[in-house]
Amino acid sequence: MKVGFIGLGNMGAPMAANLVKAGHQVTGFDLAAPCPEGVTPAASAAEAAAGQEVVITMLPNGAILRAVAAEVLPAMARGAVLLDCSTVDVESARAVAAEAEAAGVLAVDAPVSGGVGGAAAGTLTFMAGGTEAAFEKVRPLFEVMGQKAVHCGASGAGQAAKICNNMILGVTMIGTCEAFALADKLGLDRGKMFDVVSTSSGYSWTMNAYCPAPGVGPKSPADNDYKPGFAAELMLKDLRLSQQAAEAVDADTPMGARAAELYAAFVEDEDGRGRDFSAMLPRFERRGRT
Ligand code: NAD
Repeated sequence: MKVGFIGLGNMGAPMAANLVKAGHQVTGFDLAAPCPEGVTPAASAAEAAAGQEVVITMLPNGAILRAVAAEVLPAMARGAVLLDCSTVDVESARAVAAEAEAAGVLAVDAPVSGGVGGAAAGTLTFMAGGTEAAFEKVRPLFEVMGQKAVHCGASGAGQAAKICNNMILGVTMIGTCEAFALADKLGLDRGKMFDVVSTSSGYSWTMNAYCPAPGVGPKSPADNDYKPGFAAELMLKDLRLSQQAAEAVDADTPMGARAAELYAAFVEDEDGRGRDFSAMLPRFERRGRT
């Protein structure tokens, strides 16, 4: 396929490189980052988008997505697909989809899980919102960049699935970390704690697959001095998006709200920025109740 790729950062660059490797013809644009090998550089986002069958965006936030969409939609061919893989607020995803429709362009919001490692290995999971026809058009690209793509529903449904998943993830990570810190103070060995919880009703992905305690369970960022992995500031971004969405639809999410507060304190006032989100464990370890 002929693909335009806008936003060639930590995630976008390896995703674009995988499309090239699979034989797609990719033209790229980024304000700052260079194009990976095999991607033809364009002078602007509009130039990267002109005449493409699919235009992929992988950008930092909803405001930037809206600005880029306003620039590229007039340049895109009717019937082409604007495929946004960034994590953005549900409202921006829906607003961009409405503008695309007005321009005769199909839109899919398809945020990813799997991080930079998944982007490089082509094993991302895509959660997609948009029409069935639009989803089917971009399915071959999902198959190159990822191992699974779930069509979640209409425009915005992909972003909704992503922030609900990551709200659970943030809450569960905090629960797992505070339980380890409590176990420490009760004199319980971390290995025993893992053996019990990972096979009992407290089990979770954060305990079983991404254990925040170093030397316990399968290898995780905790075993690499809490280098990300999934950085605490990205978790904070997703938790804030979940709370923005919860406010918009009047959903009561007390645990999500508390998780957002804790990650905000961790990233903004403590030493969390640049550390993996599981570094909440050493944070709790050092603290008492006040
Ligand atoms: P990044 O900051 O490395 O990349 C974003 C790129 O967009 C940058 O290279 C920047 O120069 C470019 N950019 C910004 N404004 C632009 C514009 N107007 N025109 C063209 N390019 C522009 O971020 P990333 O880690 O690649 O993340 C991208 C998206 O993926 C984010 O929405 C993030 O939340 C999401 N995400 C990231 C991860 C992760 O582990 N990094 C995991 C899942 C989802």
